[in-house]
Amino acid sequence: MSSTFPLIPRIETGSVTGQPDFTKIPRFAGPATFASLPTPGEVSDIEVAVVGVPYDAGVSFRPGARFGPAHIRNASKLLRPYNPEGDAWPFQSQQVADFGDMGVNPYNIDDAITSIETGMRGVLERAKKLLVLGGDHSIALPALRALHAVHGPIAVVHFDAHLDTWDTYFNASILHGTPFRRAAEEGLLDQEACLHIGTRGGLYGLGDMDDDRALGFATVRCEEIELAGVHGAVEKLHARVGTRPVYVSVDIDVLDPAFAPGTGTPESGGMTSRELLTMLRALKTLNVVGADIVEVSPAYDHADITGIAAAHVGYEILSAIAPNADLSAFRTR
Ligand code: MN
Ligand code: MN
Repeated sequence: MSSTFPLIPRIETGSVTGQPDFTKIPRFAGPATFASLPTPGEVSDIEVAVVGVPYDAGVSFRPGARFGPAHIRNASKLLRPYNPEGDAWPFQSQQVADFGDMGVNPYNIDDAITSIETGMRGVLERAKKLLVLGGDHSIALPALRALHAVHGPIAVVHFDAHLDTWDTYFNASILHGTPFRRAAEEGLLDQEACLHIGTRGGLYGLGDMDDDRALGFATVRCEEIELAGVHGAVEKLHARVGTRPVYVSVDIDVLDPAFAPGTGTPESGGMTSRELLTMLRALKTLNVVGADIVEVSPAYDHADITGIAAAHVGYEILSAIAPNADLSAFRTR
């Protein structure tokens, strides 16, 4: 049956199909994909896959991150084709496609994690890089398993108020507080090159930090960002990661609750969104093979504050990994 809905014209640059032509359709209309980008069926030779994982069976406090992917996509309608910070065309200089949401078992953690890994492996057969929209932080483990199968051990740059290197909680071993310990145990991580940024808040005891160091993580605590500045943190990041393949994991609770109230385990005293976006721009010189944005929980959000922050996190990550391209002839409004 043919559709009577008019086709939405998209911007084409070379072989890349990008966002709709916003001279023909305003940003608040159009498809419900991330940044209104095409689906895999519309394009070929995909560089970056955006994948939603509506899963939150691994949360330890407030639930609701299963609704994160839809919330981030909705806020991402704001995003425009050209990013002047870094002179980047995140959607026009590389093919990005939104693969939609994975179907994940909401009742069985083992089944869910296995199916997420299988799904990620499938996506990596069509795309070189992943941008995962969570979901709770558990989903970093299956993402790292799938990326490790392609790249070998991976450095992790982990923006989060929390360490997420717990061992178990209520006898569960896979939850949103444990993905990086499990990943280290499985040999997925380059343990010379992992780094937490933005850590703060109370712990259950000193052992948490001892365990974390033993697993291969260095830390830039949030207070250090206040003292050494964003650029001090970036220097440490560059020195730690170098040219290794890196996975960038952004738990939105790294931001202060003022900038991201819609999350499951908020901690006061966090980063501003400006600090975080500036740090993400410093990923430009790194070899980013995958990234996630997790723990967006819209039921606790107000005026889309958290969704907007998360959408811009995705924008800066895609901008940082985009190749340089002079598309200065384009105007799209
Ligand atoms: Mn966290
Ligand atoms: Mn986390």
